[in-house]
Amino acid sequence: MNVPRYLPRYFALIPAAGVGARLGAAVPKQYMPLAGQAMLTHVLTTFAAASMISHVFVVVSVDDGYIADLMAAAPQLQGRVTVLFHGGASRRDSVLNGLRAIREQVGEEDWMLVHDAARPGLTQGLIEHLITTLGDDLVGGLLALPVVDTLKRGDQNARVAQTVERSALWAAQTPQMFRYSLLTRALTLAEAVTDEAGAVELLGLQPRLVEGSPRNFKVTLPHDVALAEMFLKETHLKENL
Ligand code: C5P
Repeated sequence: MNVPRYLPRYFALIPAAGVGARLGAAVPKQYMPLAGQAMLTHVLTTFAAASMISHVFVVVSVDDGYIADLMAAAPQLQGRVTVLFHGGASRRDSVLNGLRAIREQVGEEDWMLVHDAARPGLTQGLIEHLITTLGDDLVGGLLALPVVDTLKRGDQNARVAQTVERSALWAAQTPQMFRYSLLTRALTLAEAVTDEAGAVELLGLQPRLVEGSPRNFKVTLPHDVALAEMFLKETHLKENL
């Protein structure tokens, strides 16, 4: 007799408790308007509309004064997104606090897709690509892009100290997708990592690299804003055809 296997679910967790100082905007980066909507609204809407995603959690800072208005203005998010006021001092702290806050709502083997609020160019196609490529991978993985530029390591005087062999290098993106228990254990042990994969690597595991897209870049500097808007308008145009 075939005993039905436990089918893991997929959850999105969006750390959105940063201030985004490098962008120099009046509001925290995730609330900056892009193509008519806050950057975070684009990200939450994409996940909320993805049929493979069971539910979306967003982690904001304890004293966040913007998320209530954002949610009130976005009926497409009602019932699909839960706000967690559990932001921490670093991205890693925000993600770990969020994971701990939802302990009762997710299973140990459920998948968590952790995605930066500052990557509004993510599409449903990329989410599906990540989920289907990883399948029931034992470790998990992340979207990433093979590096195309020649890379230089600089010294304190902005002079080239070394050319770095780029052939096996990838630039990490998000979502990064790992099972709840593994990710929580990895982040608890790793204090100084800048992404989830980094924490999982410290356990001696090798996350899988899944090719992402240039449109899923992280909005960081003022000149990134126009490029992000271009990609978003292009998507809206296709959706309305
Ligand atoms: O600042 P950076 O672009 O690297 O942030 C990546 C993501 O981590 C953003 O979505 C940001 O809001 C989030 N973050 C956070 N808590 C922090 C710092 C950053 O949730 N303390």
